[in-house]
Amino acid sequence: MTGRADTDPVLVRVDRDRCIGSGMCALSAPDSLALGADGLAAPLAGYADGGAELTDGLSEAVDYCPVEALSLHSARGGYRIAPAE
Ligand code: SF4
Repeated sequence: MTGRADTDPVLVRVDRDRCIGSGMCALSAPDSLALGADGLAAPLAGYADGGAELTDGLSEAVDYCPVEALSLHSARGGYRIAPAE
């Protein structure tokens, strides 16, 4: 886990080969993630494209995904924010 980058918008990536559709992330971060029609998690709005605010709920979703399918990336720099490499 790294520190929050409050001024840097983040992108959420979902590893669709790992996601098991538990829905935990959509509960932790309902403004950032939802289950799609295929039953797998998908980033919402700016989190898929362009970047949006890093929230506590989103950090929690990444930390608690049971299969480590979520990652956060800097929309500007492209580097991975969480989880730590
Ligand atoms: S918590 Fe992880 S496994 Fe569950 S729906 Fe979200 S990304 Fe998929």
